[in-house]
Amino acid sequence: MFYRQMETRKWQELDQAHYLHPFTDHKALREIGSRVAVRGEGVHVWDTEGRKIIDGLSGLGCVNIGYGRPELVAAASAQMSDLSFCQSFFNTTHPAAVLLAEKLVKLTPEGLNHVFFQCSGSEANETAVRAIRRYWDLQGQPGKKLIIAREYAYHGSTHLAASLSGLEPMHHAGGDVPMPVVHRIKTAYPYREKPAAMPDDEFGRLAASWLEDKILELGPENVAAFFAEPAQSAGGSIVPPMSYWPAIQDICRKYDVLLALDEVVMGFGRTGKWFGSFHYGITPDLMQIGKGLTSGYLPLSACLMSDRVADVLIDKGGEWAHGYTYSGHPSCCAVALANIEVIESEGLIENAADTLIPHFEARLAEFTDHPLMGDVRSVGLMAGLELVADRATGEAFDGALRVGQHCSAEGLSRGLAFRANGDTMALMPPLVMTVGQMDEMFAIVRAALDATARHLGMA
Ligand code: PMP
Repeated sequence: MFYRQMETRKWQELDQAHYLHPFTDHKALREIGSRVAVRGEGVHVWDTEGRKIIDGLSGLGCVNIGYGRPELVAAASAQMSDLSFCQSFFNTTHPAAVLLAEKLVKLTPEGLNHVFFQCSGSEANETAVRAIRRYWDLQGQPGKKLIIAREYAYHGSTHLAASLSGLEPMHHAGGDVPMPVVHRIKTAYPYREKPAAMPDDEFGRLAASWLEDKILELGPENVAAFFAEPAQSAGGSIVPPMSYWPAIQDICRKYDVLLALDEVVMGFGRTGKWFGSFHYGITPDLMQIGKGLTSGYLPLSACLMSDRVADVLIDKGGEWAHGYTYSGHPSCCAVALANIEVIESEGLIENAADTLIPHFEARLAEFTDHPLMGDVRSVGLMAGLELVADRATGEAFDGALRVGQHCSAEGLSRGLAFRANGDTMALMPPLVMTVGQMDEMFAIVRAALDATARHLGMA
């Protein structure tokens, strides 16, 4: 391959000269130099130095079926040979998009019968907001335009998606973000928000009541939708109590507020079910998916809409002037179909639920007594280990210490890619990880935590 033509150092120099990375402090990166990844197979990635790294993050929560699957390569190749591109704007369609839309309707919660494609999770959320606003306009309620989203939310990086996101640094990344149509509520974050003596169930209902309070404050006649992830990933692996979602769903129905569920990370098996909605018993009006839809082999996302929303757009709306050149891109759709076929034929979600998740949970429980550990939480194959300065009070570390970053560097130097969201260490292993590989992963997590504790003088 072409990458063999250069030494790592040369790649790093060229990288720094021209390539702007997402969410990156380039000045700091110059000091460290990028790791240059060149190959992936199963749960492993290799770099130009020949180092083999366990991918404890499934790329970015997307490579659910692991790297290097020939079935997906074959699907992309066959589709590119047959029909490399097809627009769907002017009364034209193609088999891969039609079959994928049909398949997604079968896999997702009841009533989501219509599918709009684009390439990224951010765009899927943009589509959802535009569909919602158009829906209320066509219903003769144009005043219903405010969107409620949560703290710690991550919904993407375009203007609107960044506005929906509740992570402060994103609001300073450029533009008038958050846009004024977005209003924010606190999230169901047991470790930080639950009063000590309160049972989980009661806290779930309390956290849901924050949505009701906000709807009443803004006026239900002004509120178009509530946007949320089933469990929050980039915001710090925040997992709500089981009582949260049924209460949220009731509140949305009571005030006729549409529920737009962002399943971009939780979809395609992360919770041990096809979608987080099945885990939490949610029936959304719109559902945004991406990432695991193609296991990251090609970029594709979808916004699914219920009959309630789509019928109005279709029957009353005429042309909906919204869409992308690559909406329903043939190769992306063909790869998504092949990806779903792998997940189904290999029983990956059943295996996650029956074998991997119980093992994951048991191994995670071993970290609760670690000297740095504030909280260990997980849903399915997504976990957060929140590191704190004081276990008794939950006091966070001074941000300048960059404890999470240090810990992830300790992991990487030992052969594990895992991520720091602030000082919460995130794990999201691929669904194809074996129990043995999971044990290897946790051995490195332990070593990285111990090394971080020594570095801080807390061992
Ligand atoms: N929603 C959620 C829940 C996400 O985690 C992400 C990406 N991390 C997005 C949306 C945005 O997806 P993309 O980066 O593909 O635009």
